Amino acid sequence: MQRSFMLAAALTVLLFLFPWLWAAPEASGEAPPQTEEEQAETVTVHDSARTLKVLIGGEVTEMDMETYLRGVVRAEMPASFEEEALKAQAVAARTYTLYKMEGGGSANHPEADACDDVNCCKAYKSQEDAAADWGMSSALYEEKIRRAVADTDGEVVLYEGHPVLAVFHSSSAGATRNVEDVWQQALPYLRSVASPENADAVPNYYSKAAFTLTEFKELFIAQYPTANLSGTPSNWFSNIHQDVNGAVESLQVGGITVTGGQLRSLLGLRSANFTISFTDDTVEFSVTGYGHGVGMSQYGANVLAQEGKTYREILTYYYTGTTVEVYDK
Ligand SMILES: [Zn+2]
Repeated sequence: MQRSFMLAAALTVLLFLFPWLWAAPEASGEAPPQTEEEQAETVTVHDSARTLKVLIGGEVTEMDMETYLRGVVRAEMPASFEEEALKAQAVAARTYTLYKMEGGGSANHPEADACDDVNCCKAYKSQEDAAADWGMSSALYEEKIRRAVADTDGEVVLYEGHPVLAVFHSSSAGATRNVEDVWQQALPYLRSVASPENADAVPNYYSKAAFTLTEFKELFIAQYPTANLSGTPSNWFSNIHQDVNGAVESLQVGGITVTGGQLRSLLGLRSANFTISFTDDTVEFSVTGYGHGVGMSQYGANVLAQEGKTYREILTYYYTGTTVEVYDK
């Protein structure tokens, strides 16, 4: 009797001192078992669990989102950029891809979720091709790219719960542009915001493109045959509408109204932010920035990262009214 009492007392003391002896498994740090449905939900948010069909060099290749995004970040942003800028780029590319997929994909390639044509989807560069370009820095740069994608795994820019049209461009001329001034449809999250990059931060921030009057005339009339390009060249251009930062919204050339973007494409200008000047036999375009000017500025993102901003701060700055979250659809 005495002995069993002693034993019981000893056991009680043991259990009191070492509660883990009787604790349930979940209290010891192990997660409770999940149903199959819960497991599926948990894993689909990871890049490694999303499979994409990507048209590369004309052939459809299957890869996971992680592999695809590394290829896009290698191709779309200098790997020498700040880590937070590279992360912002990875999230923007993930967001853009999911936006396209949710919208039913591209009519250009119904057989693939994305392609490597910059005029359709995003550029893509393999590890081998990037290493050849990067030379001595390739191990360092590849590791930066890997981290930019892995550290933002599954994260997406959302507006009202959906991935946004996360377009980006190289550099702005003081501010990004309202989307409806460049393309047709207005979107609440693609609004003009000030962008901090300038000629100190951006190579070829200011550029020039000169054409002989004959060259210009031939190029323009090939595209717009009814244009009247006779008389004094300085009279060829009229009604030039620019926004407050100098981006050309529209102008008349030889009596034909075109957008700044249309003239930019035709002449291969780096942006639609330009002024026009003449010499005896040339017309010269002085251009600021590079790209369409909508959404995130990549050089702007790098300047913000140098100032200590995080990738989330950079993304929510350039995509107005958005949040950055793990997307579970
Ligand atoms: Zn495409």
